[in-house]
Amino acid sequence: MLQQGKDIIAEAARQLTICNACRYCEGYCDVWDAIETRREFSHDDVVHLANLCHDCRDCFYACPYIPPHEFAINIPRIMSESRKISYKQFVFPKAFRWILDRYAQTYFILTSLIFLALMTYVVFLHGATIFYKSYLPMQLLFPPHIFLLLEYSMYAYVFILWYIEGSKYWKYISKGAKVEIKSVLKALGDVFLHKNFRGGGAGCTYPYDKGNYSRLAAHALVMFGFIIDWLAVLFYPFVSLSTILLYLLGSLMMSAGSAAMLIMAGQADKNVDTARMSSFIGAFLLAGVSGILFILFLPTPTWAIFFLIRDSSIGSIFLLAPFSKFIHPIFRFLSLVWNRQEWAMQQEVMQAP
Ligand code: SF4
Ligand code: SF4
Repeated sequence: MLQQGKDIIAEAARQLTICNACRYCEGYCDVWDAIETRREFSHDDVVHLANLCHDCRDCFYACPYIPPHEFAINIPRIMSESRKISYKQFVFPKAFRWILDRYAQTYFILTSLIFLALMTYVVFLHGATIFYKSYLPMQLLFPPHIFLLLEYSMYAYVFILWYIEGSKYWKYISKGAKVEIKSVLKALGDVFLHKNFRGGGAGCTYPYDKGNYSRLAAHALVMFGFIIDWLAVLFYPFVSLSTILLYLLGSLMMSAGSAAMLIMAGQADKNVDTARMSSFIGAFLLAGVSGILFILFLPTPTWAIFFLIRDSSIGSIFLLAPFSKFIHPIFRFLSLVWNRQEWAMQQEVMQAP
C-alpha cells in the first residue's frame, strides 16, 4: 500500500505511461483521449486525470496487466488514491483537511449538534408539545427571516469556499488558462448526461465484472434528487402543494439512489479499489429518508421532528462540503471543462494550415 502522496503520483504516472503505450482502453472514458496528448505525466497531469476518471472500473476488467502481472496496473485504484491527494492539496482552509479522513465521525457529531440546537430553539419558541400534541403548521416552525438568513448564509459560505478551492484547482491543472464558455457548456452536458458513466456504451463494470447502467442510474437519482430538493427549499416558507410534491420527489430520488449506491459498494470487488465513501453516501440517505418521513407525517405533530432531522443532516452536508467528498463535483467538473478545452485546442492545431 502506497502511503506518501509523491509515491502515489509517481506510481500513477508509471501506470499511465504503460497505458499510453498500450491504449487498449481507448473509448471507455475521457481519460484515454486526454492521455493521448501527453508523453509524460507531471503532478498536475495526474491530478487532472484522476478527477477526470469516474471510477467506472471498465479499464481494470479489460486489462491483461493487472496484478499479479509484473506491470501491476490498477487504474481505478491509483486514480482514486490520486484524487484523494488532490482534495487534500486544494482544500481551503487547510486546517480542516483532517475532515477528509474522518468524515463519518465529524458528520455524526455536527448533525447531532445542529439537531440539538434547532430542537432547543423550537422548544424555546413554541414549547415541546408541538412535537407530539399541538399541531404546528410548517410556515410557523421558524420565523421565515431567520430561516432564510441561515439558509442563504450557508449557501454563500459553501460557494465562497468552493470558489476558492476550484480557482486554485483550475489554475493548477490548466497552468493558468482562461476558462472558455464553450468548454463550460460542453462540460455541463457531460455532467448532466453522465457521459463518463457509460463505459463507451456498455456502462460501468460495477459492482460486478459486467457492464451495466445501475451506477449511472443511482448517481443520477442522487444528483438530480439533491438539486430538486435544493430548488424546492429555496421557496421556504412559501410552501404550496407543488413545492411539497417536488420536495417529496427529490427525497425519494435521493433515498433510492443513495441506497442503491450503498448496496453496490457492499457488493463491489474490493481488489479493484479501496475507496470508502459509505459515510458520505449514508449522509445523503439520511437526508433523503428524513425528507420523505417529514412529508408523510405532515398531518401529525411528529412532522416537526423529521423536519429537524432533515435540516440537521442537510446543514451538516453543506457545512462539511468544502472538506469532504463533496469537493468532487467541483474538481470533476473543472477537469471536464479542461478536457473539453484541451481537445478544442488540439483540433485547432490539427486544422491549422
Ligand atoms: S488499463 Fe491495461 S489494457 Fe487498459 S490501456 Fe492500460 S495497460 Fe492497456
Ligand atoms: S476506471 Fe473507468 S473512468 Fe476511470 S480511467 Fe478507467 S475507464 Fe476511465
